[in-house]
Amino acid sequence: MTDLTLVNANVLTMDPSRPRASAVAVAGGGRIEALDPNPPWSGRVVDLRGATVLPGFHDAHNHMIGFGMSLAEVDLSTPPVGSLDELYAAVARRAEATAPGDWVVGAGYDQNKLGAHPDRDALDRAAPGRRVWLRHTSGHMCVVNSVVLADLGLDDAAATEVPGGRVAVDSGGRPTGLLEERAQLLVGSLVYPYPLAELTDAIARAAEVYLREGVTSCTEAGIGGGWVAHSPAELAAYQAARDAGRLGVRVELMTAAEALHPLGAHAADGLVAGLDLGIKTGFGDDWLRLGAVKVFADGSLVGRTAAVHDPYDGSDGVGYLQADAADLRATIIAAHRSGWQVATHAIGDLAIDVVLDAYEQALAEYPRRDPRHRIEHFAVVQPRQVGRAAALGVTAVPQGRFATELGDGMLAAVGPDRHGWLYRQRSLLDAGMVLPGSSDRPVVAGAPLLGIADMVNRRTASGAPFNPGEAVTAEQALRAWTWGSAYASRQEHVKGSIAPGMLADLVVLSEDPTAVSPERIAALAVLATIVDGRVGYDAGAVDDLG
Ligand SMILES: [Zn+2]
Repeated sequence: MTDLTLVNANVLTMDPSRPRASAVAVAGGGRIEALDPNPPWSGRVVDLRGATVLPGFHDAHNHMIGFGMSLAEVDLSTPPVGSLDELYAAVARRAEATAPGDWVVGAGYDQNKLGAHPDRDALDRAAPGRRVWLRHTSGHMCVVNSVVLADLGLDDAAATEVPGGRVAVDSGGRPTGLLEERAQLLVGSLVYPYPLAELTDAIARAAEVYLREGVTSCTEAGIGGGWVAHSPAELAAYQAARDAGRLGVRVELMTAAEALHPLGAHAADGLVAGLDLGIKTGFGDDWLRLGAVKVFADGSLVGRTAAVHDPYDGSDGVGYLQADAADLRATIIAAHRSGWQVATHAIGDLAIDVVLDAYEQALAEYPRRDPRHRIEHFAVVQPRQVGRAAALGVTAVPQGRFATELGDGMLAAVGPDRHGWLYRQRSLLDAGMVLPGSSDRPVVAGAPLLGIADMVNRRTASGAPFNPGEAVTAEQALRAWTWGSAYASRQEHVKGSIAPGMLADLVVLSEDPTAVSPERIAALAVLATIVDGRVGYDAGAVDDLG
């Protein structure tokens, strides 16, 4: 039975067999019933007066709990924080409201914009007696103050070698407070695990923002292990949010590779690495399901820890892998063999080669139909690597919004000779690859319209062109944030386009992004977001919707 009919709409279906329509009927069960149904319409009829309807946006790579938690932390992004002095002032303000010994947690700073990483001694002065922990915008490094270093036994000497990470020291060998990559696990040992109730609140906070921005699905890029995890029982926080009606959007959870372990199944089953009971990619339902296993091959481009073949501009640093290449390969092959989709974070061209080698070997030794492995970010990509990724059926998951917020730091990191390798989009489509849309929120602002605008405009915050040859059209960017992301999640048969039988996840926009000038896309308004046939967000601009 028809529940809701949206009429007088400009529907961009993302279904090539029927790209446009002017009305959508939604059945009571939360599925699309028909396009352009003939009057008389039944159920609730809403006149959209020409507004544009798209499949709901799907963020293919975000950190929902991390974002929800960051909403309660000191915001160190630029703007509002324009200098190190302003950063210390923001820390001092929070410290005043924080009891001695308690934590002052901030996130979002970028040393490319502030001139340097914050310094432990200045943080001690800003927040006397408090524990200070400030995360870099990339999430790949953080700075702590002397109280935390003392907790960690790193006060004066960095005797600690951390495989896959680094405790930074000054010229005298004294730790500066900067902890890179897996060295962040040291702080984790003081604050983790978080109580699940806190994580559930963070999920609910994030979901409210997502619905306002037109997001109906997202993929959480790693839970349950490694430095991205907040608790080994993180999935339970999502389940609790869902049970309480606070999940808001559909969520696909990537499992951190660290959480996989031998299962003791029959040798013939080939289940060499998995989660208890043998659950794996695809387990769950349309609201909450397990996605790929998340592997970290390397680090951050703006932080210059990502593993590149040739040194960063103006230095001899080439970054590093988060585990040695043989271990990474073994992890990837074991997960592939055990039936998992694999999503590996690889930024530098050296890390990308290591991952492509592993995928190739996995497919050769344990052939599997359409495993749809992914490379997250795929940031510094040599021309030869595009064809190789395409031939292996790999889906690359780049982030459009990085151009504006991190682009200047990225251009500086790789130098002019490699600008044409950065965050490819068009050459991926030209090679026949599928392009998803994603934000990596809270690394950068996550509103899909910002990401879509950046995929088209490709300019940095300072106005420099960001590898503009890789720009795509607004149509291609919209397809990425809908169908492309559904494909990357192996879900394109139920979402990502508007056609009879598909999930009724829709976003209503004030104007058609393909019909306005590219500069205006970011400012278009989300009028409503519909998930499962129900209105999850209503800006109040459409009569009779709520
Ligand atoms: Zn991420």
